[in-house]
Amino acid sequence: APLSPMEASAEFVVESPDVVYGPDAIEAQYEYRTTCVSREDGVLKVYPTSTRFTFRTARQVPRLGVMLVGWGGNNGSTLTAAVLANRLRLSWPTRTGRKEANYYGSLTQAGTVSLGLDAEGQEVFVPFSALLPMVAPDDLVFDGWDISSLNLAEAMRRAQVLDWGLQEQLWPHLEALRPRPSVYIPEFIAANQSVRADNLILGTRAQQLEQIRRDIRDFRSSAGLDKVIVLWTANTERFCEVIPGLNDTAENLLRTIQLGLEVSPSTLFAVASILEGCAFLNGSPQNTLVPGALELARQRRVFVGGDDFKSGQTKVKSVLVDFLIGSGLKTMSIVSYNHLGNNDGQNLSAPPQFRSKEVSKSSVVDDMVQSNPVLYAPGEEPDHCVVIKYVPYVGDSKRALDEYTSELMLGGTNTLVLHNTCEDSLLAAPIMLDLVLLTELCQRVSFCTDADPEPQGFHSVLSLLSFLFKAPLVPPGSPVVNALFRQRSCIENILRACVGLPPQNHMLLEHKME
Ligand code: NAD
Repeated sequence: APLSPMEASAEFVVESPDVVYGPDAIEAQYEYRTTCVSREDGVLKVYPTSTRFTFRTARQVPRLGVMLVGWGGNNGSTLTAAVLANRLRLSWPTRTGRKEANYYGSLTQAGTVSLGLDAEGQEVFVPFSALLPMVAPDDLVFDGWDISSLNLAEAMRRAQVLDWGLQEQLWPHLEALRPRPSVYIPEFIAANQSVRADNLILGTRAQQLEQIRRDIRDFRSSAGLDKVIVLWTANTERFCEVIPGLNDTAENLLRTIQLGLEVSPSTLFAVASILEGCAFLNGSPQNTLVPGALELARQRRVFVGGDDFKSGQTKVKSVLVDFLIGSGLKTMSIVSYNHLGNNDGQNLSAPPQFRSKEVSKSSVVDDMVQSNPVLYAPGEEPDHCVVIKYVPYVGDSKRALDEYTSELMLGGTNTLVLHNTCEDSLLAAPIMLDLVLLTELCQRVSFCTDADPEPQGFHSVLSLLSFLFKAPLVPPGSPVVNALFRQRSCIENILRACVGLPPQNHMLLEHKME
């Protein structure tokens, strides 16, 4: 049953001596129970361990600004429109009835978590966003850059994503929003994008970097913001080569920009954001966050996250292959076709840009395969093929056709075929929202352990966001988790820890006793 209105807006309080609700912060003592495994004389010895953490979450929610690179694109215009439509509580007629603005597809806004069992033994759910104080999406302030000068109303019309009745109501609000000029380096995106490029920051790389930094400062002060987060949702670029001396360290990357040597537009934006102390998130597949950018983020203690929004086909893949291999079936072949007709699709029709996407889509089952040495010999992996074609007529309505073939017992074969159709930008926009809201929340969390009482924040590579990215960036040496529900549990359990709640274990032992 849907949540009762009370619970849907629920505030809850954890009644425990381990949790203190202060005027500025929620402080929780938390026992992190895990295990440590060692290989001793051919035996795996598993040692349960326990570490006492103190989590501190600042309660004051800031006035948050979001700067989108590629603001006038399908995702950028759709996200801006969605927040406005929700803020204004818009509804509009369609041929199947009246529709109302909502945030479906957002983990934080439309997902729920179970707080536990009530006196009748039934689970009590609250919205994910109720776990800790979070910025309300309706309060976000948007700005951004685009190489195309169209205002946001014209960009919305060009995108052909929203119903006409909604577009008409949003038009006067969006018309006043105009993307700031951006950095265009033609060799990084497809040649077919050049016709859009009429809104450019000229000058040397160093001057372009300075202009982006000025834009961030200008937005922050003119809109009266406490914080700004920058999100790349511009076209997919080709990969840039990581070259020692050029972009392998923070120092080399900054020098490369000063000397005007090769740097991608997205890396320029990442560097500008980090230098301004703003978190930078990469929604496209290219390797924007080169080692030098990661080092700079670490030095400046700024969050970075990436790569490539995990919205449609890959999200399904990270559930389905987890289900297949997790059930003990040996998946041997994964074949994925896509066709789409939006500008993203047109850009991806060029081989170097397609290659970036192919790489980010391909690594998504690695952790699941490697988790099962019963099924897969070392180095063995399923065939995995990804095809993307540009078909203008289908516009933003992306089609994904997948075939998964797995081996059953005694020589059997199982083939699953999936056909997925939906508006690509309506899947991506709520993910962009979650990225921004969770990143901001993480900026307010600090923790210490008994052994290391100095408070610290999360690692600058914010791997907690893995649920939202196709090819999650993680700190060096950290395992990459692609399996969707492991990623979701990670977010949920860390947020629960911040209010002193144990991890969700789904054991329901209360109901397994006589
Ligand atoms: P889009 O082509 O509609 O929008 C991209 C915008 O970026 C365009 O308006 C373009 O003019 C602008 N742009 C290009 N280079 C720029 C630069 N250097 N600076 C500023 N603006 C620039 O594409 P979209 O559908 O909005 O997708 C955006 C990105 O998100 C793509 O890279 C896409 O691969 C990625 N992505 C989308 C989804 C999804 O479901 N929609 C999922 C994963 C990743």
